[in-house]
Amino acid sequence: GTWGSDKLNASRQENPFMMTWVPGAARHSVPNMTHGEGVYLFDDKGNKYLDWTSQAVCANLGHDVPKAVVDAAAQQMATLPFVYGGIGMTEVRTRLNQLMSEILPGDLRAAVYPSSGAEANEAGIMMARRFTGRQKIITWYRSYHGATANAGAATGDFRRWYGSDEVPGFVKAFNPFPLFFNHGGPNATEEESVQAALNMLEEQILNEGPDNIASIIMESVVGAGGCLVMPPGYMQGIRALCDQYGILMHVDEVMVGFGRTGKLFGFQNYEGVMPDIVSSAKGISSAAIPMSMTACNAEIMDFFEDKPLGWGSTYQAHPVAMAVAYENIKYLIENNIVGRSANMAPLFEACMQKLANDHPSIKQYRAIGMFGCFDIQDTNGANPKLQHEAAHQAFHKYKQAYIENGLVGLHRYPHIHCAPPLSITEEELIDGFQRL
Ligand code: PLP
Repeated sequence: GTWGSDKLNASRQENPFMMTWVPGAARHSVPNMTHGEGVYLFDDKGNKYLDWTSQAVCANLGHDVPKAVVDAAAQQMATLPFVYGGIGMTEVRTRLNQLMSEILPGDLRAAVYPSSGAEANEAGIMMARRFTGRQKIITWYRSYHGATANAGAATGDFRRWYGSDEVPGFVKAFNPFPLFFNHGGPNATEEESVQAALNMLEEQILNEGPDNIASIIMESVVGAGGCLVMPPGYMQGIRALCDQYGILMHVDEVMVGFGRTGKLFGFQNYEGVMPDIVSSAKGISSAAIPMSMTACNAEIMDFFEDKPLGWGSTYQAHPVAMAVAYENIKYLIENNIVGRSANMAPLFEACMQKLANDHPSIKQYRAIGMFGCFDIQDTNGANPKLQHEAAHQAFHKYKQAYIENGLVGLHRYPHIHCAPPLSITEEELIDGFQRL
């Protein structure tokens, strides 16, 4: 068979690619993974692959789950595997809440612990609507927020698959990221472009009616859409507009939270910016278990003190997931994993620059912390139709080329993502860039 055992091949139902975005992917060969070690995965043929994007930028500690995490999960499962969040409190939740209150900036506090990034965003959307009594949510193209109805509607990418236009209440902002679209005109400075983009956003807020807008949702560093780092002043300007019009600022930290950018949270790269709602997932458990969190400021927390948020997902605050997250975060702190990500950043960027200089196909790149992205096509002025077609063709070619060179990773043409585990050594990092 091409992608696993004949038994698996016999059943389309079990085909993992039914879940991906590329039609026909099942016809292409992918390795059948058997185990992991450090930053490597191994397949059933004994091949070894460097995990170049920590899977979907989530296995931030690679594939050796720390012993303390394994032990905590086993102990929690043995003593109290499950209590429904609507029925009882648990010791592990109290402990995790406490830890979160120590690490979350400002007056942000953990409110709910869903199981995925999409659900963390759903909870944040629900929170914003109930708190403000308003319905509209402003979001951007070039964004990814998850595969559920509201998170999909908030998302800019792949809208045609989510039926997103059928979900009311989501408004796509005019102004895409100033980094790529020079709103201030061809000769404008970055500052002028940022101001022009903010003016456009304000115009749209006024047109939609500020009293109708519950929140603005954005990734602090756009992840799947190509490691887009916000230019100076942009996030601060959005914060100011939110304050001016009573709109909540909801920052999606699902991909970059917990150390990817060299800070605990991506928004901490923008001085003075404090969101009202933060959703995170992935790195919260380093992918050892499905787990996420929606945090909010004290005012929102107080608002829900005497009324339930109503986020009633069965596995919200699952004790085993919380035990894993607790030990995972302790491990991150004790081993200075976030500091490590910041310290590796210069080498990471130097490797990116070298590859960009050496390789004519690379048009530009961006990097922050241990996160980077090469563009294989100019983002400005690219032919969008060609780009979409090329994306489908390139997906399989790149996947195959990765495998042949001992790599596995996420790549979304025209972007080549670089996001190896934060635990990677310098030698492994350099080796990874050479393979790439
Ligand atoms: N938000 C961002 C920024 C993401 O990158 C992702 C997933 O890649 C999600 C939300 C959705 O998370 P999940 O796939 O866990 O639902």
